[in-house]
Amino acid sequence: MDDSRLTIRISGYNIPSEAIPAGETPESITAAYARISRSPKNISELRDEARAHVDKARRSNERIVYDMGHASIAEHACLNIDIEGISRLALEILERHRLASYTERSQRYVKLDIEPWIPEEVRQAGEEQTFVSLQKEAVSLYSEMVDAGIPREDARYVLPMAVPGQVGMTVNARTLEHMILHLLATPLKEAQTLGHKLLEGTGDLIPSLIRYVEPSEYHIREASMGLTGPIHQQYDELSENVTWQGNGVGRLSPLVIPPSIEMTAAAAYLAHTHSVCFSRAQSMLEAMEHDRIVDLISQMYKGASIHDSLPRALEHVNITWEMVLSSAAFAQLKRHRIAGITWGRYLPHLGFTVPPSIAQSSFAPRLHETVLKAEALFGRLSSSPASSYVLMGGHRRQVIWTANVREHFHFSRLREDEHAQWDIRAFATAMGDLLRNRMPVFGRFLGGKSELTDSNS
Ligand SMILES: Cc1cc2nc3c(=O)[nH]c(=O)nc-3n(C[C@H](O)[C@H](O)[C@H](O)COP(=O)(O)OP(=O)(O)OC[C@H]3O[C@@H](n4cnc5c(N)ncnc54)[C@H](O)[C@@H]3O)c2cc1C
Repeated sequence: MDDSRLTIRISGYNIPSEAIPAGETPESITAAYARISRSPKNISELRDEARAHVDKARRSNERIVYDMGHASIAEHACLNIDIEGISRLALEILERHRLASYTERSQRYVKLDIEPWIPEEVRQAGEEQTFVSLQKEAVSLYSEMVDAGIPREDARYVLPMAVPGQVGMTVNARTLEHMILHLLATPLKEAQTLGHKLLEGTGDLIPSLIRYVEPSEYHIREASMGLTGPIHQQYDELSENVTWQGNGVGRLSPLVIPPSIEMTAAAAYLAHTHSVCFSRAQSMLEAMEHDRIVDLISQMYKGASIHDSLPRALEHVNITWEMVLSSAAFAQLKRHRIAGITWGRYLPHLGFTVPPSIAQSSFAPRLHETVLKAEALFGRLSSSPASSYVLMGGHRRQVIWTANVREHFHFSRLREDEHAQWDIRAFATAMGDLLRNRMPVFGRFLGGKSELTDSNS
């Protein structure tokens, strides 16, 4: 076969900024790619032209990305950004943006060396002293627990959300612009500072791709969700209690599960594999013996390894859950990007997740005492978006999470697994149990990597 017609050429890749020659900018790539659709020239010629005339390339970007509205062109410019000294709370706001990649320092593995840090709002509220002493108390309890053999991943439940972390982020210019706008709209000074720093740090490099970062009233209202707003004391008691080793870790309630979830998912798969319309696939399934349906679904994953996703057809069925979970568990849930997720404020009356290792230790009364102090301070700061800074890893929030069935299998692989952290694992297992019950045939494929072997597939 003559395959010389088809060529690939690596036109760019990310290298450390120290090694990039002066004057180079990803804007030459976006400008060249923007012209692909209307120019007879080949791509390397377009790139050479854009690199030789950066000012012209920038004007072209502005015209095509903004005036003509082809914002997707900005996705071809990609940056790697190191972010250090960011609080757990601000990290949540940053990672709200799903079309980016993040790698964080893990509080499960690294013993933290923490200097007290005072958010501006806490200082302005005159609670500086109380907050410093709360942080010192929490950090010293954390250190004592770690030294006494409590696992780090459990000791961190006492750490306030002001505690800093670090994250490596890979992001394209389109998402970055949106991220900066959202950070600037957030009623938290630290988030605004991060927004300004991202703008300053990238504005000279890709000025033609970061332009609209002025928040509107709408952005400001949206960005305040989960940080401010009225506090209602009750929570729906209909949801299931989620426990781990006999300790309550929160609540879970299936809000929307299609009544015939197994048949709907199977029909979507059949429609795809047999090139028939969905209603025809449903009639075919209705006419089938149960054993044949089991066989059809079982064949679906044949030959796949536990690292393979289930077929794409399973994306047509969505499930929505409501959860009340700790900040530590939420930190992990939010990393699953193929999902719709919204959340409320961290609120003391939703409970505090005490890790079993602490509940069974002599540290339990001290943890309780520190939590009460944090909650008293939260009460005094509750009208401020900064109130969440004083709450800790064990404090909880309510979350609504929607994901398709395919993503549920992925979530189960990672989070029902024996390597998963116990808190998020308790939720993944509770979800998995409910789904195994509601879709017994597909349910065979649910489970952590450690429990499934390739031959199960
Ligand atoms: C035991 C354990 C330990 C962990 N430790 C750490 C840690 O120390 N630090 C840390 O930062 N994180 C850690 N994580 C989080 C982990 O790195 C993932 O961010 C998280 O599990 C979400 O998984 P995901 O990216 O596969 O899936 P999702 O975001 O749920 O995406 C589902 C699938 O979509 C595809 N996908 C989604 N987005 C992209 C993209 N941008 N590019 C290409 N494909 C994409 C992939 O196929 C992915 O598997 C840990 C996770 C586990 C389970």
